[in-house]
Amino acid sequence: MRSLRSILLTGGAGFIGSTLARELLKRTEVEQVLILDSLTYAGNRDNLVGPDRDPRLQFIEGSILDLNLVTNLLRAHRCSGIMNLAAESHVDRSIENPRDFISTNIGGTSTLLEAARSVDVPLLQCSTDEVYGPISFPRYADESQKLRPSSPYSASKASADLIAQAMHTTYGQDIIIARCTNNYGPRQHPEKLIPRLIYHALRDQPLPIYGSGQQIRDWLHVEDCAKGLIATFEKGIPNRVYHLGAKFERTNLGIARTILKQLHKPESLIEQVADRPGHDARYALDPRLALVELDWRARIPFRSGFEQVVRELSQTLRPT
Ligand code: NAD
Repeated sequence: MRSLRSILLTGGAGFIGSTLARELLKRTEVEQVLILDSLTYAGNRDNLVGPDRDPRLQFIEGSILDLNLVTNLLRAHRCSGIMNLAAESHVDRSIENPRDFISTNIGGTSTLLEAARSVDVPLLQCSTDEVYGPISFPRYADESQKLRPSSPYSASKASADLIAQAMHTTYGQDIIIARCTNNYGPRQHPEKLIPRLIYHALRDQPLPIYGSGQQIRDWLHVEDCAKGLIATFEKGIPNRVYHLGAKFERTNLGIARTILKQLHKPESLIEQVADRPGHDARYALDPRLALVELDWRARIPFRSGFEQVVRELSQTLRPT
């Protein structure tokens, strides 16, 4: 088992990272969670309100592209490992301007790998189901599925995964990769599908849905995801890829309808808009290896988990 004693958690002010910080702090063997986040538009210090009262948590504003900073932090805090959640994460933005995605997701991960190698600590890379491109029904991708990313975002994530694996092959570096499906949960940035739909519904504004709305995503509660990331870091076999998915498949249109029903709003608010270029029809991961080797599976049922999240997000997104 890898040690959770002192973790450098990058991107900890983001959606999944701030949940992962909470999950790490529940573990008594954790002595230190060092958050490194450059606070882009997507990062928010308020996401850490609560955990920041724990003396084991420390926040450093800085970039994963800064090799000296990362190496010095790893040395000074005698870190036992890195969990890399820092990324540019919104597909639409990657289509408008891929540059930051290539810089942060590829360059930043490469920098972290270099720093990890220099002090000999393991690195967990948080990746995505999107690296495989569309998976046609009724198949589920296993970990040997060919990478066929469609967007600049997913291509940057696939590239980072390949670089991490090359570092293992070339230098014997201890890396593990978790590919996660779509997360839902509190503290997600309002530009993402679920908060965006809730925001519009609460204002009786049209809910924009790309194309037919028949695109299928597998929805994983962010707390399940965070637990899966910890299990992958602790128990994952070096250089192996693990799928963190829930097999709760829903169409985007179905998600919009569920939100409207819960908020007692009419379906006529749904507005179909021009489709996103290169929009993948379906993502579907087979998470069996994570069950067998990590003893992890998603536990929060979609129905109750989703209801709760819509309630929580409605509180923060309601008109003031
Ligand atoms: P997010 O956009 O909410 O958070 C990203 C965080 O990274 C932000 O706090 C941002 O400030 C920080 N960051 C960006 N560039 C940085 C840099 N150069 N240095 C330091 N910090 C930087 O993203 P998220 O949804 O929490 O996703 C986290 C990870 O999980 C990403 O790698 C993403 O690709 C992956 N992932 C997300 C999902 C999902 O559904 N959200 C699904 C699969 C995989």
